[in-house]
Amino acid sequence: MSGLLSVDAYVAGLREGNRATLARAITLVESELPAHGERARDLLQAILPATGGAVRIGLSGVPGVGKSTFLDAFGMLLVERGHKVAVLAIDPSSTVTGGSILGDKTRMARLSRDPRAYIRPSPSGGTLGGVARKTREAMLLCEAAGYDVVLVETVGVGQSETVVAEMSDLFLVLMLSGAGDDLQGIKRGILEVADVLAIHKADGDNKLRAESARHELQSALHVMRGAGRVPSVTCVSSLVGTGHVELYEAIFTRIDEMKRDGELVRKRRDQGVSWLHALLTERLVRRFHTHPAVAAQFGPMEAAVREGSCHATVAAERLLALVAG
Ligand code: GDP
Repeated sequence: MSGLLSVDAYVAGLREGNRATLARAITLVESELPAHGERARDLLQAILPATGGAVRIGLSGVPGVGKSTFLDAFGMLLVERGHKVAVLAIDPSSTVTGGSILGDKTRMARLSRDPRAYIRPSPSGGTLGGVARKTREAMLLCEAAGYDVVLVETVGVGQSETVVAEMSDLFLVLMLSGAGDDLQGIKRGILEVADVLAIHKADGDNKLRAESARHELQSALHVMRGAGRVPSVTCVSSLVGTGHVELYEAIFTRIDEMKRDGELVRKRRDQGVSWLHALLTERLVRRFHTHPAVAAQFGPMEAAVREGSCHATVAAERLLALVAG
């Protein structure tokens, strides 16, 4: 980072919707340096009143389902309808490789060139929890910069869907229609968190299959959800450009419902509390590991557990005793 700005300078730049300031502010919250952490916390506190105004949409789907192509088309529909759109990503594989497979801006060729949109690749490095924190804070910064729709994308690996659902108002899942045994291949968990579903690539030879997959999915969801609200399922093709308007209606109708009956406020409050718990866990674990006595003892204890000379419970108690009091 080429020097930190003052909190006031970040705030002023964000208020003007300055994209360069937004990019620098996100880099600040992504930084692991303690000095940056303090400035980032002050900044987040300062922008708090300007946050919360966006519709937060989580997006998931297996690699190859066409998320980038979809985001490009759907993002353009959003900006044409007057929205300012931010696209953020959570890619757990980037924490392993140190580089993001979602980072390539050419994935969203039109949207990435549009001044009404801002695209930021997944922060790399660290744990999924750490990446989630950075993305959540980036989302707040985007809101402060005036973006009124934030899309958080994930490749749906590991726990990343849960993490994205935890920071979104609405969770959108893209799926593909396959052969007749469609629904067997779908992760049940994803159907439980989905608020809106789209059968993607509903074009050409796939069009009829997509329609029947939609019916099948809709009935399966009726059975699964019982008396609860059943998510809508829309057929979409980003190649041909069909279904995006229907999907837009489905998403914003749902958001309006959630606003009307107070569900959105409740959901965000619950998410805030879960977030507090997650942050505390992350910080406590980090603080624990940086304690000098723990740092000295942890390796030997781990080795003792591995070779069976010490039980994990005993080792945990001994390590905790080092920081007690
Ligand atoms: P991602 O890995 O989920 O981001 O998927 P991409 O957006 O990179 O798309 C994967 C492949 O699917 C590419 O070859 C796209 O051209 C193709 N694709 C994306 N959207 C559609 C669509 O609506 N219909 C069809 N037939 N192909 C699509």
